[in-house]
Amino acid sequence: MTHEQTIDAQALLAIDHKYILHPYSSLKKPLDNLLVTKAAGVRLTLADGTELIDGMASWWSVIHGYNHPELNAALNQQLEQMAHVMFGGITHPPAIQLAQTLVEMTPVGLEKVFFADSGSVAIEVAIKMALQYHYSQGQGHKNKLLTIRNGYHGDTFMAMSVCDPINGMHHLWGQNLIAQYFADAPQSPDDAHWQAQDLDSLDKQLQQHDDIAAIILEPIVQGAGGMRFYAPEYLRQVRARCDEYGILLIADEIATGFGRTGRLFACEHAGISPDILCIGKAITGGYLSFAATLCNEKVSDGIAEGIHPVLMHGPTFMGNPLACAVANKSIELLLHSPWQQRVVEIERQLKRYLLPLAQLSSVANARVLGAIGVIELHQPVDLEKIQPALIKLGIWLRPFGKLLYLMPAYSISPAELKQLLEAISQLLEDIAAYQN
Ligand SMILES: *Cc1c(COP(=O)(O)O)cnc(C)c1O
Repeated sequence: MTHEQTIDAQALLAIDHKYILHPYSSLKKPLDNLLVTKAAGVRLTLADGTELIDGMASWWSVIHGYNHPELNAALNQQLEQMAHVMFGGITHPPAIQLAQTLVEMTPVGLEKVFFADSGSVAIEVAIKMALQYHYSQGQGHKNKLLTIRNGYHGDTFMAMSVCDPINGMHHLWGQNLIAQYFADAPQSPDDAHWQAQDLDSLDKQLQQHDDIAAIILEPIVQGAGGMRFYAPEYLRQVRARCDEYGILLIADEIATGFGRTGRLFACEHAGISPDILCIGKAITGGYLSFAATLCNEKVSDGIAEGIHPVLMHGPTFMGNPLACAVANKSIELLLHSPWQQRVVEIERQLKRYLLPLAQLSSVANARVLGAIGVIELHQPVDLEKIQPALIKLGIWLRPFGKLLYLMPAYSISPAELKQLLEAISQLLEDIAAYQN
């Protein structure tokens, strides 16, 4: 580390501090950020040369690790052809290949693909599809959404309207947020502990309201709204009720898609197929912002029969060729790897280290599903204290609220994962020490 580099880093961080808004950060007193200058495999390198083992996969997305030679090559190759071209009236090979792959790999029946530029946009498109479907069927009064509490579906306004009302701070948005219907989130953690009363709240909503267009939920794993896992039986019952009541099912697999839960898509745990599916995050292996909304022919034909037979949506960067090319390569890498075995091995190691931590007095619950590990504490963590402690332990995690969680790249080695997990144990001891 040279003196010059240190000064540079400090100057850059000062500019960052002064001008840049980071996710969910204070405008007046933002917390410090780490200056990352390189990343490779599961390691982030800071400006001063410090290396951290990454447990976040940059929010579920970097499933093959950073700076992957084959993903880099795929991007470079596409760059030589074209970086971008508009998607209105024009198409291109990477988009065509990706659409075909997605139709083949996602649950049966999903046959139409809309390329979006982020997860939140994919959710907006899904909701638009559901509303326009009922409108086209002469059922325009069906214009509300039913969802379950503790959900997270993105930060745009329609997406926010179906986020958990408390976590999503609905009180703050008042009249700007469309009021939707909320059922209690299921409590049964898995089918072995299935309790049919989990459905009572949902059934009540379904019986009370005849203006529901769709149920939207995250299948099996609720992500940013609480990192909760629930029984596949709930999802099967939701699917059955959607058919019974003539409403659509929107599955938000933006976090769970591409193998994270041990299945390629979390819907597979329940053996169901939604009418509309949103995917994002890991779709490009974490290289570029990209997402997609798929629907079945019931939805696409239903919309096409209406007086406005086209879906009214078309982002400028729709179907970006660079994003499609890197998505194609990322999916190829995934499907040609023993990903399922890797996720099972990660799951086993996560369970071995994390589940015993539930005995600690500071820990309310420890849970693991696929390559997702969650420690729920009794008290919210103090990021200002915890983040430097994590850095000192040589790992990168970004806890929120009472949740300390990790979803590493599938390429993480057992030794690297061990280091992450031992650091978490150490951290919990430290937390216990400063809370006492
Ligand atoms: C991250 C996420 C979104 C929003 O995706 P962005 O790309 O951040 O807009 C929506 N739904 C779920 C389940 C997510 O995890």
